[in-house]
Amino acid sequence: MQDTIAAGPRPSILNMFRCKCPRCRKGDMFIVKNPYRLKTTMKMRDECALCGQAFDIEPGFYYGSSYVSYGLGIAISVAFLLVFAFTVGISLNDNRFFYWMAANAVLLILLQPPMMRVARSVWLAFFVRYNPRWRSEPAKKPERVNEDQKNNW
Ligand SMILES: [Zn+2]
Repeated sequence: MQDTIAAGPRPSILNMFRCKCPRCRKGDMFIVKNPYRLKTTMKMRDECALCGQAFDIEPGFYYGSSYVSYGLGIAISVAFLLVFAFTVGISLNDNRFFYWMAANAVLLILLQPPMMRVARSVWLAFFVRYNPRWRSEPAKKPERVNEDQKNNW
């Protein structure tokens, strides 16, 4: 049972961006890997196929991921502003700032599908910790779920 410890789990932050289960860091959270298949972008498994961790741990759980999504959007915008300022440049005497705003809006729209997924992944990782003994210890079942509303947000 030393496999996961000996091999060393991948860093948590990388797993968040790869949308892996936070408990075992191996199982996929989303059914279809490609986030740009828009019909299935937000289709999640009910639980991790490897360790059994529930992904919808309470009704409306992923409403909170909008805070993460907002933060990601700001971080991407600031990073893009810096890149833009150092390459194209920003000035008060012309319209370059507005070009940045337009380009940033397009960038955020294009990045929306993976951002929504990463936001859910990060949000779940706030509440579910990595367990190196995930193979032997069963995952906790969520206390309350609403089967009718699963995957509805
Ligand atoms: Zn798992």
